[in-house]
Amino acid sequence: MKILGLLGGMSWESTQPYYARINQQVQARLGGGASAELLLWSANFAEIEALQHDGAWDALGQKLTRAAKGLAAAGAEHLVLCTNTMHCLAEQIEAGSGLPLLHIADPTGAALRAQGYQRVGLLGTRFTMEQAFYRDYLTAHFGLTVLTPEAGEREQVHRIIYEELVRGVIRDESRRQLARAVASLALAGAEAVILGCTELGLLLKEGEGPVPLLDTTRLHADAAAALALSV
Ligand code: GLU
Repeated sequence: MKILGLLGGMSWESTQPYYARINQQVQARLGGGASAELLLWSANFAEIEALQHDGAWDALGQKLTRAAKGLAAAGAEHLVLCTNTMHCLAEQIEAGSGLPLLHIADPTGAALRAQGYQRVGLLGTRFTMEQAFYRDYLTAHFGLTVLTPEAGEREQVHRIIYEELVRGVIRDESRRQLARAVASLALAGAEAVILGCTELGLLLKEGEGPVPLLDTTRLHADAAAALALSV
């Protein structure tokens, strides 16, 4: 089995399902008492969110590269960065650590294409929805057209993630707000919507809504398990 190095804690609320799902997949495939060989570096998310909102992306790049090097030194063979947002630094972390990184948009883009979708909506943090790195990756690698909500809805989704979901707060009113953002994207022509923040699955479930929802946490964790088992 390949040893995976998880960069998690962004937030820990979403690293839990990664840990559970990767182990469940490995157990299901290998049977018996099998589980995944994992190394986890888990961030203090208060530091991460403060640096993000200060626009201190260089400092974040240095911090995550240092953590990834630690995982490499401890024996990790492949990196899994358990957040969509911090994939804005994916290339830097990969180059700096010398470890290959399983990009979260790869299993997501592949699933969308396999299901025949071309025009997709994206929900995530303001950084993921407004910076170009995520949309451009999906367009360049999978030929997808990516739609994002209008400014007011982007702000609401961002607020729900940072003020509620990363703190484990689950509110019905926020679920309704997210559902409205999904409905707006569907109305604008999205054939499916990416839950492009690893905490969004805490509020919205795949299979609910006017168009299919693709949960990046599930897709990324399943791809990570497949990778671990690929030797
Ligand atoms: N987990 C979130 C994501 O997938 C947001 C928290 C973070 O900024 O890492 O983007």
